Order: sequence, then structure tokens, then C-alpha cells
Amino acid sequence: MERVIGIDLGTTNSCVSVVEDGVPVVIPNRGGYKTTPSIVAVTEAGKRLIGHIAKRQAITNAENTVVAAKRLIGRKWNSPQVATSIAMYQYRIVEGPHADVRIQLREKIYSVPEISAMILQEMKIIAEDYLGEEVSKAVITCPAYFNDNQRQATKDAGLIAGLDVIRVINEPTAAALAYGFGKKIDRLVAVYDLGGGTFDISLLEIGSEGVFKVVSTAGDTFLGGEDFDARIMDWLLADFQAKHGVDLRQDRMAMQRLKDAAEKAKCELSATRQTEINLPFIISTGRNEALHLQCQLTREKLEELTGDLIQQTIDICANTLDEAGLDIEDIEDVVLVGGMTRMPKVQERVAELFKREPCKGVHPDEVVALGAAIQGSMLVAEKSEVMLLDVTPHTLGIMVVGGFFEPLIPKDTTVPTSQTKTFTTVRDNQTAVKILVLQGESEKAEENELLGEFVLTGLRRAPKGEVEIDVTFEINADGIVAVSARDLETGQEQSITVTASSGLTKEEVKEMAQSSHEYLVERRRGEEAEKANQEAETLIGEIERYMPQVEEVVRGSEHGPEAISKAKEVVEHARNALRSGVPDAEMKEILDSLRRTLRMFKAVLT
Ligand code: AMP
Repeated sequence: MERVIGIDLGTTNSCVSVVEDGVPVVIPNRGGYKTTPSIVAVTEAGKRLIGHIAKRQAITNAENTVVAAKRLIGRKWNSPQVATSIAMYQYRIVEGPHADVRIQLREKIYSVPEISAMILQEMKIIAEDYLGEEVSKAVITCPAYFNDNQRQATKDAGLIAGLDVIRVINEPTAAALAYGFGKKIDRLVAVYDLGGGTFDISLLEIGSEGVFKVVSTAGDTFLGGEDFDARIMDWLLADFQAKHGVDLRQDRMAMQRLKDAAEKAKCELSATRQTEINLPFIISTGRNEALHLQCQLTREKLEELTGDLIQQTIDICANTLDEAGLDIEDIEDVVLVGGMTRMPKVQERVAELFKREPCKGVHPDEVVALGAAIQGSMLVAEKSEVMLLDVTPHTLGIMVVGGFFEPLIPKDTTVPTSQTKTFTTVRDNQTAVKILVLQGESEKAEENELLGEFVLTGLRRAPKGEVEIDVTFEINADGIVAVSARDLETGQEQSITVTASSGLTKEEVKEMAQSSHEYLVERRRGEEAEKANQEAETLIGEIERYMPQVEEVVRGSEHGPEAISKAKEVVEHARNALRSGVPDAEMKEILDSLRRTLRMFKAVLT
């Protein structure tokens, strides 16, 4: 059976998992870490860095280091979240050709799905190294609150990374799947997920028959650990300005160091009550004099600075329960997901709201990837014991006369689903209708997200209200939307799969996938070459170590001196090759000669 990996593509960290012998396991990266920072950088030499290695150089290369790309994925250029990101991050965010968002790293401009694809590709490589085989199928998770554009863009990222994304599932659903895995329980659980960039709350029914039904889901795609860090930074900036009269905001490097220090302090305060933030030489005053930033941050102060952010998550939880018509007492367990749920105040407020201690049995950083892998293995299994019933997080509909929004599929409808509504023409002799597909909760069309539009033409000329048109909305299991309109008289039909707004055209995705594949081939080749070089170095070292002994032993023999000079030649040739670089095939021959020489030396000495 084909392997499917589960990828939790996080704002801050990503995690990959696979089901082995029926048990989901998290796959560690080469450094042994179970999560990999979702950070991409390009060095001055044009080298691409991903994960921990990208994180380590972020301070000195802030302009060319992308963090939290997930906050930008599937967004339109003019959205407020993009404006916030431009102010918040050091890398260059620019407008793309489809009013989408692009990121400039050195001379090259990348789409956001391309950046996410680099992270996905890294996760694919981590899995392939571990499994020792190529992996092409994946289930990727996204926040439940992601709209259609963001889901499409996530799928595009998978395609660009060379992955066949067999399903995009909601993070809380994945978490519940991992939580309920192997347990025969009937339970209504709340999944509270506060990560680096997003907040999600989902209420799910786990049935002992293996049915997982999402009852309700809500969240904020722009509320997470990054905002906590920003609060600490603002506080540090204000304090520094008051003490020294210097605004550090102008200095990219200082800002990056400040951001790192703020995050570090935040994490430390989950375990201690007080921490010191110490940034020597944060800025030079230009008079040969440097200023240092030093201050104490207490847990109480952190809680004061971020109390309203936690409150926002609590309000969203209370609203969701309300909307679902549920009481706190109905919730039988609370699962915490996301790094930010390690903050004691978050745990305290959640426990207070739900009137129970959250479940301790799941690992907040790994549970989502594990769930994705479980779902992946089920999708390829012949018979699956678990059924996932997800819901659409937003209402879908079209714009009607007067600029109003007419819902077709209400939020929290179980997907896949399909709905049809009949509309009539609104003007005499109207021969065409424009269908604006929207997603959101406002009565006013303009306040909702425009997913796409198309025109149905060739309608019969008739007085208004006479021509009937059926509009059908379909949402597939990935939560991706297709809309069609049909003239009931002529049977003429127009439809769209809402794809254009992911920010990329099909051709662009194809080209990006091609160049990402080329990169991968090149990188693998580079790694092979590096391995060969290392082996050559080791062999040369060993041969040279044995050389004096071997010379001693063979000195008197007939062919001894010739063999020694041949061996020296082999070593010399290999050294030159290492110094100047040679094609792969030649390196292979050099390695063979080195191995032969070493074997011969060992034989002489035994
Ligand atoms: P995630 O997106 O789930 O990987 O969550 C990452 C977020 O969790 C980042 O904002 C981290 O700074 C934050 N985080 C990680 N560990 C801790 C901790 N021990 N205490 C508080 N926040 C943490």
C-alpha cells in the first residue's frame, strides 16, 4: 500500500508524520527535532535555507528570511492582514500580478505558495530520508477557519512541492482524530488551538463507531503567538525609547534581535516567573558608543500585556458554544493544541471557561501531524474504520439585487455537500447574469470575501422574472468550492471551480512545480556530491595513516616501491579533485581507486 505522509504546515513550525504498522509516528528531521521551523531564507551566495538553519541566520539576514508565510497564504494584496504583515516583518512583501501577495528574496520574487512549498518539500525530504523511499502522497492540514482561497493556495503549495495532496483537513479535526485514535469513546470534545499565527476552536463529536463529526468551528486567522511577541516588543521599544530617546524600529537587525528575545522570554515565562532580556550592543549611536537593552520581564507583566489577546480567544470559544446551542457542561474533554497553549495563563483561562482541566495525554506540537497521517492512511486503505465529517467554516452564497448576500450553504454544514437555488432575471430582456461567488457572514455582499465570478450568457429575451436560473454550489471533501449556473430553459451552463483567487494560475503552478523539482534534483545531487567528498577525505586520511607502515613492509619486495608510488598518485589525484571539483562520474572512479588502495594496504598489514 502506498505511503501517505501527514503534514502539519504551521505558521511557526511544521511537523511530518506517517503511520507505521498501524501506529502514527512523528518523523524527526536530520537534527533529531520533531518539528522544523517554517522559515525560509536565501543567503548572499543564493543558497536556499530551510528550518533550523534558516532560523539561526535570521538576525543577520532578516530581509531575506521569511517567517510566518502562512499568515499571507491565499490573501489578497489589499487585505488588512497583509498591511499588518508588511509593518511587522523585515522581509519585502510586494504586490503580485493577480492582486496577490509576493515575497522578494534577493533578486527573485516568489509567490507565497512557493515559499510554503519549500517548507513542504523539506518535510517530504525528511519523510523520504526516514522511510528510505520516495513519497508522493500527502494530507496537509490547515486552520479550520481558512477560507477557500487559503485552502486552494495550500493545495497549490503541495503541488509545487511535488506532492499529490490527497486531502486538506482542518487542524482541529486532525487533532481530534489523533486524540480519539484507538479509543472506543463517545465524546463531545473541544479542541483549543493557539499556535504561532492562528487561533482555532472546534467542537467535535467523537463516536465509538469511528465517526468524527465537527459540530462547530470558529477562530481568527490572525491571532497567535506572533501577536504575543509583538506586545512584548512594543513594551521593550517604549521602555528603550523612554530610557535612551532612541527608536529601534528603524533598525532591522535590532528589530530581529528584539523579536527573538521577546519570543524567548515568552517561552521561558511558561516555566519561570521572571526572566531577563539582555541585548548588548543593540544599536550604535554613531558616536563610537553602543547602547544596550536590558530589562526584567515578569510573568505577571507578560500576562498584563497579553491578557486581551487571551480574552479574545475565550470570547470566540464562548460564542461558538452559544452558536452551536451547547452549554459548557456538554463539553466532555478539552484538547490543547499549538505551542502557545504551554503558557500557564492560557491553560488557566481555558480551564476556567470549560470548568475542567484540559486533557494532558496529547502533545500539542505533534497531535495535528499525527492526525493528518491517520487520515492519510485511511484514505488509501481499502476499508476505513473512521469517517471524518468536516464542516464548512463560512457561509457561501452569491450577490443578489441591491448588493445583498444570498446564502446558499450556511456555515457549519457538513462537507462534502451540494445546494441548488433557483433565481430569476431582474431586468426585462436580460440576456446575461453575472454570478459573484462570496464567502462570509455579512448581509452586505461587499463585506464578504469574493471567491470568484463568472457570467452566464445567452438567456432568452423575456420580461424580468420570467427566465429561471439554477445556481448550484458544491463543496468537496477538501472544502474547495465549485459553482455552476444553469439556464433552465435552454440547459446552457456555466461553471467555475473557484481557483483563480488562490493567487496563481494553473500555468504558474506548473512552472513553479517544475522549478521546485529541478531544485530538488540539484539539491540531492549536491548532497550526494558532498557525501562522496566526505568519504574521499576519510579514505585519504586512512591511507595516509597506514602509508609509513606499508612502506616499511613492502620496501624490499619487487613491486613494493611501484605500488607505493601508485598509491601516492591516487591520493594526490583525489586531493586535486577535492580541491577543484570534478564531475560526479569521475568522483566515483576516484572513490573506487581510493577504496582499492586502502584494501590493498590493509591486506599488506595483516
Ligand atoms: P505552533 O504554531 O503550534 O508551532 O506554535 C508556535 C508558537 O508557540 C510560537 O509563537 C511560540 O513562541 C509559542 N511557544 C512555543 N513554546 C512555548 C512555551 N513554552 N510557552 C509559550 N509559548 C510557546
